[in-house]
This record gives sequence, C-alpha cells and structure tokens, in this order.
Amino acid sequence: MISSQERARGAYLGLALGDALGATVEFMTPWEIVAAYGKHAKLRGGGWLHLKPGQVTDDTQMSLALGGALLANGRIDPCEIAAAFSQWMRGKPVDIGNTVRRGIVHFRHSGQPWVPPSPHDAGNGACMRVLPIALATWRRSAEEIRQACVAQSHITHNNELSDAATECVVAMLHLGLEGAGKEELRHGPVAGLLAAYPQFRFDDKECVNPSGYVVDTLRAVLAAFFRHDDFCSILVDVVNRGGDADTTGAIAGMLAGCYYGEQALPAEWLRVLDKDIQTACRAQAPALLQLATAQGGALLARVRVRNCPGGDDARSTRPVVV
Ligand SMILES: [Mg+2]
Repeated sequence: MISSQERARGAYLGLALGDALGATVEFMTPWEIVAAYGKHAKLRGGGWLHLKPGQVTDDTQMSLALGGALLANGRIDPCEIAAAFSQWMRGKPVDIGNTVRRGIVHFRHSGQPWVPPSPHDAGNGACMRVLPIALATWRRSAEEIRQACVAQSHITHNNELSDAATECVVAMLHLGLEGAGKEELRHGPVAGLLAAYPQFRFDDKECVNPSGYVVDTLRAVLAAFFRHDDFCSILVDVVNRGGDADTTGAIAGMLAGCYYGEQALPAEWLRVLDKDIQTACRAQAPALLQLATAQGGALLARVRVRNCPGGDDARSTRPVVV
C-alpha cells in the first residue's frame, strides 16, 4: 500500500527527474538521439542549455515557485503566484518559454495576474508546472479545482486546449493519489478529454518529436504512460521521442511518480538529481497535501475582480484580499 504522501513525493521528484533527463535531448529528433546516445537513459546533463548532470529547467523551477507561493500564503492567490513567477524570472533562469515571459511582463505592466484569451497560446507551459495546484486541491470540490487550475494557468496561458490538458493532468494526479488503477485514469479524465477534444487522441498514430504545442506534448506523454508499466520505461520512452523532451519528461514524470510512488524512482537517477531541488520537492509535496486537507475556508483568493495593484513592484502594499 503506497501512501498518498509517498505518491505526492514521487510526483514532485518524478517531475524533476523527467525534466533533468529530457533536457539533454530537448529539440533533438528521435533519430538524432539514437545517433548521439543510442538510448538516452541517464542523467548526463548537456543539451542545448549546457546543463550539469541532474540540473533541472523552468518546468521544475516554476513548479517550485508556484508551490512556494501557495505555502507562504496558505491559499491560492493569483497575485502572489504571478509575483513569484516574476521573482523567478528576475533570477535569470536557464530557460524560459516565450508565452511565459510575455505573461509575466504583462503582469508587471498591468498588475493583472491573467492574460487575455489567445487562440495562439496553446503551449504546454501552464500544464508543465501544475503539480502544486493538484496537490493543494486534492479532495477539494470540482469547482474549486477548476478555478484553481484556471487561476494559475491564465497568468501566462489563456487557451481552452491548455486548460483542458491541464485539468486532465490534475484529475489524473488526483486519482493517482487515491491509488486508482490506469484503467480508471483512462476511462475517466482521459476519456473525458478525448471526447471533448479528439485531437488529443494518442493511440492511432506514433507521437514522435512532440512540439511545445500542448496537444503534441500530452499525446506523447499519454502514449508513453499507458504503454509501459514502470516509472523508468515511461520516462525513457517519452524523452527518446525527442522534441520538447524536458516538458514531456516533466509531465510524464509527475504522472508516473504519483502512480508508482517514491519507492519506484530509480536510485541511480536520484543520486545525480540536483540536491537542493530534491530537498525542495520533498519538503513541498507533503506540505501542499496538508494545505488541501486543512479544515476551513476557501483555498482560492477572490482576486480576479481586481488587479494586483502595481504588479509585483507594489506587492508589499497590496491590500489583503480574502
Ligand atoms: Mg524546460
């Protein structure tokens, strides 16, 4: 019996492992990966970002920034999350997506922790960092979960495909935390996604070289997740498909880590994974679950009716919103 805490830690560490593993082969084709490494299955660093072995990228860093904002405030406040993302961007991250950068700049200028709807921003940037929201809304009402997903996603990505993919991943994580089987995941949230948006179908043709378009990303993740029955095989499969491999690795890692639990994570990968990142993942995972199960009050701060005064620059003088 795997506890929900072990599953939460497995998800957070799995996210970081998938990010670190995939970053080496980001933007490579499957054929280039074979030529360079045969099968890429080690945390070796390198890649176009010239990473150290075990170093993570924006997928994990933004998740930790988001998780930190939730824990510091004990609630889901879009102003605080946007400010945390802005602070993260000030630290000159090793990598940042264009849509994410645009959303953060928009927040700094307007004080709005949301961007206008955009049919063009169906990137995977909101989905890749959603794990802390999933942990903090475990066993909460469907409406609270949906609002929390939207609040964090729309800071940078306001798009129905991004929303649908992100909510599907959260629903899979919630079922995973309960110990549900893969058939339940497949016939529940995944079937719901495919019924509403058939373009996410992943079993009719090979999903290789997935782009940052969230449909491509999630198709590759789902294909790998449902094809194999152990953490390592899922991650090795998905990153060797190339393309946006750090993000397919991150999303597959959180799903598989949740599904199989912390004990299933390979020791040789954990030995190499950045130690500070591991410490932060291990600390945030149970604390976020605790936030979800804490008694009393709504988790989501009702701030969408107003801007965050002055964006992040005037954050210290922002009135408390409850
Ligand atoms: Mg990345």
